[in-house]
Amino acid sequence: MSNLVAMSATDKDQHWMEYALTLADKAEQAGEVPVGAVLVLNDQVIGQGWNLVISQNDPCAHAEIMALRDGGNTIENYRIIDATLYVTLEPCAMCAGAIVHSRVKRVVYGASDLKTGAGGSVFNIMVHPQLNHQVELEFGLMAEKCANKISDFFSRRRKEKKAAKRSTKKDTDY
Ligand SMILES: [Zn+2]
Repeated sequence: MSNLVAMSATDKDQHWMEYALTLADKAEQAGEVPVGAVLVLNDQVIGQGWNLVISQNDPCAHAEIMALRDGGNTIENYRIIDATLYVTLEPCAMCAGAIVHSRVKRVVYGASDLKTGAGGSVFNIMVHPQLNHQVELEFGLMAEKCANKISDFFSRRRKEKKAAKRSTKKDTDY
């Protein structure tokens, strides 16, 4: 990844958020809400994950949790010190808690989640002064692209549901 080392810090962040967006696509291909997360240490991917709650019958299978588990396995340590987690959507309270436990150094998220976000929108868990670890938190990177990925997914799904309803109606008409 020598070309990556030559990039500026901002370009690197952009590069990894693009990467996280490709992981969000994997969630979408599995019929899940498209959220992706990548864990990076020294310009290398050590963990990656995407939302798989439905496929795995697991309410904890959020992209961030999957990436942290993957990263812990890679470095064989439950403390993932000095790593940066890039995630397309603001972490929820569960993921923010897991991030604090993991001791990840920095979190960069794209779109805000005004309903359940724990990176400042509803809660501000990752920088809570009473906790023994605070992450360096950055947000809004490629926010529009990250948000559009999710809203496009929902509008497409609404259309599909409508179409399915229409076709069943037609069936019963006969
Ligand atoms: Zn979460």
